[in-house]
Amino acid sequence: VKISDLEGKVIGIYFSANWYPPCRNFNRVLIGVYEQLKSNGSNFEIVFVSSDEDLDAFNSYRENMPWLSIPFSDLETKKALNRKYDVESIPCLVILQPDNTKDDDTYYDGVELIYRYGVDAFPFTKEKLDELRREEKRKHDSQTVTNLLTNPERDYLLDQTITRKVGHSVLSAYTCLFVPVDSLKGKTVGLYLSAQWCMPCVEFTPKLISIYQKIKQALQEKGGGEDFEIVFVSNDRDQSSFESYFGTMPWLALPFRDPTARTLAKYFDVQWIPCLIIIGPDGKTVTKQGRNLINLYQENAYPFTDAKVESLEKEMEEAAKSLPRSEYHAGHRHLLTLVSEGSGGGPFICCDCDEQGSGWAYQCLECGYEVHPRCIRAVTPQSSIEDR
Ligand SMILES: [Zn+2]
Ligand SMILES: [Zn+2]
Repeated sequence: VKISDLEGKVIGIYFSANWYPPCRNFNRVLIGVYEQLKSNGSNFEIVFVSSDEDLDAFNSYRENMPWLSIPFSDLETKKALNRKYDVESIPCLVILQPDNTKDDDTYYDGVELIYRYGVDAFPFTKEKLDELRREEKRKHDSQTVTNLLTNPERDYLLDQTITRKVGHSVLSAYTCLFVPVDSLKGKTVGLYLSAQWCMPCVEFTPKLISIYQKIKQALQEKGGGEDFEIVFVSNDRDQSSFESYFGTMPWLALPFRDPTARTLAKYFDVQWIPCLIIIGPDGKTVTKQGRNLINLYQENAYPFTDAKVESLEKEMEEAAKSLPRSEYHAGHRHLLTLVSEGSGGGPFICCDCDEQGSGWAYQCLECGYEVHPRCIRAVTPQSSIEDR
């Protein structure tokens, strides 16, 4: 392809690598956007700059790409482009305007723009992006659970809890009942973006189910009409995995392949699943960190508000004061030390439950082993004493 073919086009310089999951994730989205722009005749082209380690990886990645690329062997150009655009992390998409003379016409956050606005971001001019941001703000300001979860063709959600109660042993989405979206008004609602092909999702779902049930029960005992509901927003690839996955869940769902699922992911800028977005009784977003909060505080996280999280953090500080400074844990052979953000800790992945943690942790610095204080199963290290 001749360089002159790129003249007069909006160009995306795309830095990416096949071995890196966030790149593969973004690549799928970018292909969709690219093909749509091409099919409606938009003046857009992408040039791929590979960060792949070898030619085979480059070729297999390249096979799925409908756009242009810098040859793998052209190290000089690749290096020069990386330097010119100061690429620090991938995926990275730098957007250049056709008559790019001023630097402020160049957008370095193409990845975010594509995730956020999809094809609407085209032609990536300042006017266009300002308009999209204004529109987005207007939407967020007027957000309600009804305008989030309905579309012109559908004003209901799927509910299988009732069919389960009347004794159908085999559940399928077809026997599901329909409940109006309006029935969620005034409730705290969790939007659960998840899929059966995604391992972290499959691991998180049973925990979420048990916590959901505890929250529901506590609210029922408390009385006063306060309620909590979850809506499954499926990212499954086919109807049967949707049905079998939804079949394990005690809450509501958007129908499979409902266009609203995509709109929601874009609207909330969801880049990873599982993701739990919490909507307050007034229909406004409370937090997009529902999953983290569930992992950190379980059922106590409800209703997920800033005020609640603040008081939980204080409680955690208090509780940590009475924790032993060090502990032997059944899952690790070395002594673990209690650490916090200020003393060598920080955000971590718990080696016991595989979920995220922050704040207090028990740590073996040498092994890079960290667990939640609540995941500790204290043991006396008898064997190691006998060894001595
Ligand atoms: Zn844990
Ligand atoms: Zn260790």
